Amino acid sequence: TRKVKRIDTEVDKLRMRRKDTDTLKVKENVFDEPTLKTLYTLSNKGIIEAIGGSISTGKEANVFLAEDNEKDIAVKIYRISSSTFNSMEDYILGDPRFRNVRHSKRDIIFAWTKKEQRNLVRAKEAGLRVPEPIVAERNILVMEFMGNEGVPFPQLKDYRMEKETAKEAFDTIINYIDLLYNEANLVHGDLSEYNILIIPETEEPVFIDMGQSVTREHPRSIEFLIRDIENIARYFKKYGIREDPHQLYTTIRNK
Ligand code: ADP
Ligand code: MN
Repeated sequence: TRKVKRIDTEVDKLRMRRKDTDTLKVKENVFDEPTLKTLYTLSNKGIIEAIGGSISTGKEANVFLAEDNEKDIAVKIYRISSSTFNSMEDYILGDPRFRNVRHSKRDIIFAWTKKEQRNLVRAKEAGLRVPEPIVAERNILVMEFMGNEGVPFPQLKDYRMEKETAKEAFDTIINYIDLLYNEANLVHGDLSEYNILIIPETEEPVFIDMGQSVTREHPRSIEFLIRDIENIARYFKKYGIREDPHQLYTTIRNK
């Protein structure tokens, strides 16, 4: 239709590099009409100047490198056509902060995007290194780009470190889980070597991907906390770190 074409033209003005948006199928799944509209709104507000290469295509969201008028930013777009929103609903419904959210698929996804933004803010306030959120608009989260010159920091799983550094990274990660729980009142809920980036210069961890993070009041928060700790303890075994996840859990719970 005319309308779709017009919005599409506007997004072209964002200098979307189409060759970077993977396959045509992905492009259509991500950049549906409401998403293009939202991108257009963000462009009009001067929040996104240009959108560039795809950083990641995940189960529910795509992450793109973009620019505002002076720096790189990361744009995470939750697909409205996402097929996994049923599990999203479970997380949203147990969270007292989202008591008034309507239960349509779109509204759940918009609430999810807002939730990720709020979780990142709380995490940052508690002293964790996380991408600073800039704007959450409908299904789009704009945040600080964690990387150098357009290259994202590596995920923990792809970053090899010395044993001593590994112990420091491990301790920082456990401290972050502790701060998140005891200061921010949150449990990450999907913590693993995939959702931690490493800043190569300092070898410091950065927590990402907090859409599913829940408050301590969530009925499954303890289960998620234990799972997060277990994932980290398991991953660091290859560096000779043998810490008992249950001991770590007890320490965090008894603060
Ligand atoms: P998903 O739900 O798809 O796993 P993530 O938030 O984990 O979404 O992002 C997917 C990938 O995109 C990450 O593993 C990371 O490599 C990259 N990424 C996400 N956010 C940022 C960011 N703010 N800066 C740089 N890279 C990012
Ligand atoms: Mn992830």
